[in-house]
Amino acid sequence: MSHTPCDACEELLQGYLDRELTESEVAQAESHLDGCDYCRRRYRFEESLRQYVQTTAVERMPVGLMEKLTQLRGGDA
Ligand SMILES: [Zn+2]
Repeated sequence: MSHTPCDACEELLQGYLDRELTESEVAQAESHLDGCDYCRRRYRFEESLRQYVQTTAVERMPVGLMEKLTQLRGGDA
């Protein structure tokens, strides 16, 4: 029975998501994802989360810019 929550490969996955791994570590992570359903789901979830955060950050940028522009125009009109 192997119901391990994959603690060991969590670090590997984080590095993989952050693109901080060496070539051999990437290969290791990919082959693990290939055989580990748990980590594959985790990885997909984390990646979609990251994409969501990135998209949201980009969408929120104009709001900050708008505020700056409003301030530059002078609020004491
Ligand atoms: Zn795993």
